[in-house]
Amino acid sequence: MRRKIVAGNWKMNGSKDLAQTLVSDVRSQAASLDNGVEVVIIPPAIYVPDVVASAGDVLSVGVQNVAQWASGAYTGEISADMALDQGCQYALVGHSERRQLFAETDAAVAEKVGRILASGLQAMVCVGETLEEREAGKAETVVAAQVKAGLATVASEQWQRVVVAYEPVWAIGTGKTATAQDAQAMHASIRQVLSEMGAPANEISLLYGGSVKADNAAALFAEPDIDGGLIGGASLKAEDFVSICRSVP
Ligand code: 13P
Repeated sequence: MRRKIVAGNWKMNGSKDLAQTLVSDVRSQAASLDNGVEVVIIPPAIYVPDVVASAGDVLSVGVQNVAQWASGAYTGEISADMALDQGCQYALVGHSERRQLFAETDAAVAEKVGRILASGLQAMVCVGETLEEREAGKAETVVAAQVKAGLATVASEQWQRVVVAYEPVWAIGTGKTATAQDAQAMHASIRQVLSEMGAPANEISLLYGGSVKADNAAALFAEPDIDGGLIGGASLKAEDFVSICRSVP
């Protein structure tokens, strides 16, 4: 059985205070969830120690990015081993903001996935098409290529630590969510690609991200190939985020 996961990506938002109060709030409310969902908080890296301290053993914690190198003269970067060392369980990689604003290529994503898995962390790998690509009828092709390239070097025993997050770029922070049917169709297509790659596709959690809110989460999570969500804006308010976590069937 694949895991149900809801992860909150804070992006470059938050503060030390939020890392303590919001996470404590989410932790106390999440403790009573009975749907088996794993809740992950992904704050800016500098707040990871605060979030880890507040998360207890109820919530998991991740970083938003890691370097493709192990260590050395890479000013400003942090490594997967460092994230593990500070108590993280996950590292996000290939978010569309990193691809678009920081020129993160599929090749870099693949190298980062390699570092993340070698460190022992779980990799949450983001893929997704732009509006232009969707309108040109290329969404599935683009996403399939990102999945194949980003996960090209995953070894057979490492797949159990891979999570794929489908985030259509046009749905991120725009209030436009993919319909549950469109998201389901893409998730089924991603699962097919994973299967063709020799991965245990039915065991891999596939998350949807892009304007997931308390009022649209349940419809998305009810789809058979949507195993949870990657939440941006709505993860910054405990009530909204927990309500989304509760929407997992
Ligand atoms: P929003 O939920 O704010 O659209 O962001 C989605 C996202 O990019 C999460 O990684």
